[in-house]
Amino acid sequence: MRKLKDLEEASETPEEQMKKLAEEVRKCRKCNLWMTRKNPVPGEGNVRAEVMFIGEAPGKSEDEQGRPFVGAAGKLLTKLIESIGLSREEVYIANVLKCRPPNNRDPLPEEIEKCTPYLDRQIKIIKPKIIVTLGRHSTKYILGKLRVSVPGIMKVRGKTYSGTILGLKVIILPTLHPAAALYNPKMKSIIEADFKNLKSIIEGKVKQADLLKFLSFK
Ligand code: URA
Ligand code: SF4
Repeated sequence: MRKLKDLEEASETPEEQMKKLAEEVRKCRKCNLWMTRKNPVPGEGNVRAEVMFIGEAPGKSEDEQGRPFVGAAGKLLTKLIESIGLSREEVYIANVLKCRPPNNRDPLPEEIEKCTPYLDRQIKIIKPKIIVTLGRHSTKYILGKLRVSVPGIMKVRGKTYSGTILGLKVIILPTLHPAAALYNPKMKSIIEADFKNLKSIIEGKVKQADLLKFLSFK
């Protein structure tokens, strides 16, 4: 069964696979968040992107529009993406949870467990070279796949990790959640510095040899 399904999926384009996934998310009732959401937010962007951004969960505006990062934090994220010469259309933007937790509370462990198979599938469809995790929750989840523990976002942000997750070789760059930088100039300059670092890596200014020097995983 499993093998047959894998074969079927492999014969579909990434666009078709992502469309199917979004339809499943729209119908999903695996955790309780479907009851309070207005719209699920599967994610958006280029399904063949080299760079993928992963946030936490939809907020109020995202829940209303069914699109990721369209509120105040989203405006800052868009600006940061554009500041390094990219556009929202050429990257992919997703979240750990596809439905908004009531009052933007933190995701519950069981919600993360139920929802992240969708995120894993998105990563496997897109096959990004670089994954940028925004904030504590996505960082914990993604670095967990490399068995890197995250005592706090400030301990890992700005570092470059690389390894194989879900069968794909990726570079992982954890940074702050843009919402944390909205009204805090110190945090804003930190996230800006992390995006500059991302730009250098994309442009190949940080060569593989240099990268290996500051790899922080075993
Ligand atoms: N915060 C997130 O983590 N994701 C969004 O899509 C919007 C705000
Ligand atoms: Fe399903 Fe995820 Fe929404 Fe929960 S948050 S209902 S698991 S799509």
